[in-house]
Parts: sequence; C-alpha cells; structure tokens
Amino acid sequence: MGADRSRRKFIGTAGAAALVSCLPGTPVANAAARARRQKDGPLRPFGFVIHGGAGTIERDKMTAEREAAYRSKLTEALAAGFEVLRKGGPGLDAVVAAIVLLEDSPLFNAGKGAVFTAEGTNELDSSIMDGRTLKAGAVAGLKRVKNPIRLARLVMEQSPHVMMTGEGAETFARQKGVELVDPKYFYTEERWQQLQRRKEEEEKQTPPKQSDLRTPGGPPDEKKFGTVGAVCLDREGNLSAGTSTGGMTYKKFGRVGDSPIIGAGTYANNETCAVSCTGDGEYFIRSVVAHDISAAMKYGGKSLREAADLVLAGVGKLGGGGGLVAIDRRGNFATPFNTSGMYRGFVGPDGKPHVQIYKD
Ligand code: ASP
Repeated sequence: MGADRSRRKFIGTAGAAALVSCLPGTPVANAAARARRQKDGPLRPFGFVIHGGAGTIERDKMTAEREAAYRSKLTEALAAGFEVLRKGGPGLDAVVAAIVLLEDSPLFNAGKGAVFTAEGTNELDSSIMDGRTLKAGAVAGLKRVKNPIRLARLVMEQSPHVMMTGEGAETFARQKGVELVDPKYFYTEERWQQLQRRKEEEEKQTPPKQSDLRTPGGPPDEKKFGTVGAVCLDREGNLSAGTSTGGMTYKKFGRVGDSPIIGAGTYANNETCAVSCTGDGEYFIRSVVAHDISAAMKYGGKSLREAADLVLAGVGKLGGGGGLVAIDRRGNFATPFNTSGMYRGFVGPDGKPHVQIYKD
C-alpha cells in the first residue's frame, strides 16, 4: 500500500462516462439494446458503481487469467445491477444483486472468499443504506450467513434495529429464513495460505503498531483487501449503498472494521450522495469517511469529487490506505483510491460496463 499516495479515480456522470474498457456484446450491452428496443420511455439518468477492494494490485504481478476472471465477475455484477435499474427497479435491489454475486465468488474478500481471522475462522461484516429514508441495516461477526448483504437488508427492513452482531444476528437470520452454511463453506486454500504466511510474519516480528495495521494482508504482494461494495442512483432518483467484507486477515478479538459501520464504510442520503468504502477499516472509522463526504457536500458546498478527494486525503494523512466508490443525486460518480489499484466498475443508462483495476 505503501508510499504511493497519489489518488486515482474515474470520474464521470451516469449519462456520459468517459471511461475505458467497454465490453460490447456482454450481457449488459445486450440488455441495453433490449431496453432501447422495448422503447420503455426516456431513461432517466441512473448510475451504478461497484468496487471489489483496493490495495496493492499491480499489473506486472497479475496473470492474464486472473485479471480476466476479475474483469468478468465485475462485469457480471454490473450487469446484475443494470438489469434491475433498466426496468426501473429500486437501487437497493441492484446493490444487493451485485453484492450477492461478488460474495459468492472466491475472488473477493466477502462471503465465499472471506479472509481468515487469527483463530482460523471467518467473520463477515456487511451494511446497507437507503438514501431515501435514511434507514440502514448492518451485521458483523457472522460465521454462517452465506450472503451477509441480504441479512443487512433484512435488519434494515424487518427489524427495529440498525446493527446486529454474531450469534444474535444469526438467530435473526434463522428466523427470517436466510441461507446459513457450514462455516467450512468459507474455506478457500488461497485465503488459508495467506493466513499461514501472515502468522509466520507475526512470529518474526513484534506486534504491529496501529500505524502498521494498514498492511495487514501479509507480504507485499498480499497487501490488497478485496471488500466489495456498490452504490446506486436509480430511475426514481433514489441513492443507495452497500458493502460486504471478511475484514482483515489475522484480525483478532472480534475486530470489526468500517464496512458494517454506517457513516464510516457505507452511507447514502438522497440529499447528497451514496458511498461505499474499502481499505484499512480502522482509519476509515476514525475518519468517518462515508458520512464526511456527504457532510462536505451538504454543509461545505463541495462537489462529490471534491468531497471524496478531500476526505480520502485525510485518511491518507493518518496513514490509511484504501478507496471508495460514490455517486451523487445527479449521477456524477467518483472512485478515488490511494493504493496502487482498486477493482471497480461503472454502468449507466447506455448499459456499457466499464471495469478498471489499475491506476491507468
Ligand atoms: N475495510 C475492510 C475492513 O477494514 C477491509 C477492506 O476493505 O478490505 O474490514
């Protein structure tokens, strides 16, 4: 994550994105063509932005095969969100549809691909927020819930609470018929080996200071995070945001990061913007990143881009690495990060998916 503090972003609007990596012929492009054929009225500007984690993601360390796998899964997630939005569905449905796909993929540190705790377990966190009502739902420390984002949504919509943790959250999940899995479901060899390498590192070192926690993934080539998130402006003009993660490799003592914390890792407010973050959770909590971006817009008159850059710069000054995706009520979006890469993608009314991984 290291020394490189330059921020990179793709900035655009839902109507006219000036991005790279259009993938004609994909399900998204086909869906767009269908939408046009159906002549279902002028498309109000809508936009959907996702991330699959920020960190040390370098072109020369990535195999072509692996890069293709990431691009394909991110494109699939954009298509899932687009399909909901094209039909005029609620942004919350788009956010959940995309995040579920990413949670089910072992490529990302969420759901199936969650990292391991120091004890060798997987503890999952997630949150969601509806910018129209300012309702929110969050879950933390889950060991059996296959798709934490679904449970976060149920907390928001079918409970009087905002946040549930651990066994209590799983009891609620059981009552609501949410799919539970054997904790072994979350085992992936790659994540297990990451934990072993991290343990070896720990044995060689004195315990990390908090300023070292920003490189918790182990050796340099593993300084990546892999949390997933989505933000959305739907055709009704509503904003929504969601985030899901396995947290940090080798986390201890029931550690919870920013992802399930409303205002830190996730925030949505129709008056301003929707934000989903990824990176060193401790720093994102201390900087209250997602809400601070909204506040900089609301009280400081900043544009989305200015607000996102300003707040992320603050995280960087503290020593934290990461990034975020954000969209405002006009469909402007920003994807700044201060790491070497961030898996990210955008789709607007034209249905063209744009996926990027590296800075350039
Ligand atoms: N923000 C997450 C956490 O601290 C990690 C990540 O984004 O990868 O738990």
